[in-house]
Amino acid sequence: MRILISGAAGFLASHLTDLLLAQGHEIVGVDNYITGKRDNIAHLASNKHYKFIEADVIEPLKIDGPVDRIYHMASPASPVGYVKHQVATMKVNSQGTWNLLELAIAKNARFLMASTSETYGDPSVHPQREDYWGNVNPIGLRSMYDEAKRFSEACTMAYHRERGADTRLIRIFNTYGPRMDPYDGRVVISFIRQALNNEPLTVFGEGMQTRSLCYVTDLVRGINLTMESDFHEPINLGNPDEVTILQIAKEILELIPGAKSTITHLPMPPDDPRVRCPDITRAKQILGWTPVVPRKEGLGKMIEFYRESLRKK
Ligand code: NAD
Ligand code: UDP
Repeated sequence: MRILISGAAGFLASHLTDLLLAQGHEIVGVDNYITGKRDNIAHLASNKHYKFIEADVIEPLKIDGPVDRIYHMASPASPVGYVKHQVATMKVNSQGTWNLLELAIAKNARFLMASTSETYGDPSVHPQREDYWGNVNPIGLRSMYDEAKRFSEACTMAYHRERGADTRLIRIFNTYGPRMDPYDGRVVISFIRQALNNEPLTVFGEGMQTRSLCYVTDLVRGINLTMESDFHEPINLGNPDEVTILQIAKEILELIPGAKSTITHLPMPPDDPRVRCPDITRAKQILGWTPVVPRKEGLGKMIEFYRESLRKK
């Protein structure tokens, strides 16, 4: 197949690209580098099955030739990133989604929207099932992301219901692995960077808030299975192994023998969800998908990836 991926130079899309190329597909990657990195796709430069277009998907995209699949992965994704790029985040998840759905209709392509667990906000149902509608502050410090993703979901369903677009929707929970931006403030990469440099690990609040961490190879396998499934409503993708932030800090320190970092507590940012854990019953039933990489193994691989590059000389 010929597959278009927006956000191609980002963390998740670069791994998704590797998976799809290994399956023998042709990939067209699109990115404007607002949060992505050239390094993430440098290994694809001489791959004749890969084509890269530097473009902003909030502008209509002209793609010659057939397109069979569109994965809409473009969007700032870290709290630091989307607060820094508030309007761009809203645009890529509104005009950008709209443009790519129009392209999907024009090319008769299947479209997948990468939504997020943030659509559940600070959840009052735990773990989160797909039929929970969420608890989102519409004007809060995460609203440019949460509400825009909720709009993207509504837009995707509208195109499906009214225009017959062949759509898929995923809600991604916290994912980690190589190629994350070391400075985008997300918790796992921040703690690894700090630990490798013997700097204090910055735990916000008491660190009792929870997240559930999915290793990137598990996640992109689930994304691909969703695209090739026959299901149009949202599917949660994440690892249900829930853990406190403080525990993540301790585990990372244990995995880096000799690290001299301490743990320091900083104020809790506003609107930070207190708990987050996916109910993945739907993904198991519909896709036969379940994550297989245990956290200790995934964190170990990620530390190896960053060990040399992130140590300050
Ligand atoms: P990332 O920042 O590494 O990648 C996003 C990519 O999109 C970047 O390369 C960026 O330059 C690109 N981009 C942003 N706006 C664009 C635009 N207007 N036109 C073209 N390219 C644009 O983030 P990621 O972690 O890889 O996230 C990928 C997707 O998955 C995002 O949609 C995000 O909301 C979603 N998601 C990720 C996670 C996670 O844990 N990583 C969790 C939930 C949802
Ligand atoms: N966090 C932290 N220290 C950091 C970065 C994040 O304690 O240096 C916490 C943050 O408050 C949140 C959790 O870790 O509760 C996950 O944060 P992240 O930015 O990775 O993603 P989120 O799940 O909040 O979108």
